[in-house]
Amino acid sequence: MKTKIFGYSSEGLPIPSYQFGGSENQVLILGGVHGDEIEGVIGAHALLDHFQKQFNYNLKITIVPQFNLDGVIRCQRVNANKIDLNRNLPTKDWSPEIAKERYNPGPSACSESENQALVSWLDENKPKFVLSLHSWKPMLNVNGNCHEEAEVIRHHTSYIIEESIGYPTPGCLGTYAALERDMPTLTYEFERGMRSDQIIKVHIPAILESLKKTEAKA
Ligand SMILES: [Zn+2]
Repeated sequence: MKTKIFGYSSEGLPIPSYQFGGSENQVLILGGVHGDEIEGVIGAHALLDHFQKQFNYNLKITIVPQFNLDGVIRCQRVNANKIDLNRNLPTKDWSPEIAKERYNPGPSACSESENQALVSWLDENKPKFVLSLHSWKPMLNVNGNCHEEAEVIRHHTSYIIEESIGYPTPGCLGTYAALERDMPTLTYEFERGMRSDQIIKVHIPAILESLKKTEAKA
């Protein structure tokens, strides 16, 4: 395992990332894009624990368990500047309109240091699969060609697969990475309030098996 600084939070804190494997075929796993969705942070840490004990993929997997580190520390959705990082990416549909305070897209596209780090990482590494762990109502939001990964997870969890979460999300990662740059992105919404032992029992095996699909495609 290699530990690297992925980037810096708006408050200047280093955001750690953990890298496993050495293949050309890269995968990015994010937890804590929304700092109050702690279930995703727990999931990302559980994967990190698992890979430290055992890693047998022909993939290079980078995990950023607490992408919105300032938000995780404050237990709030938005970052320290009160910006929703999943509405701030420089997509074609980015808009400064603030639909609701919790979805504040920021003063300009990619104004936030966390997203500047993410955009450079994606540009440099061009992952074959991006998995972003959130919590809300149980759902697998598929953008781009990661239906096989989603099917495996659906089989384990009975979660529904959706192409859209049901309302507009300008400046989001699915649009930026998958629809505009051909980096398939799965936004995995764990059930809100799920206990950590259940996350480890249900979601970790699902993710581990789904990564075998990414490996087979690569
Ligand atoms: Zn979220």
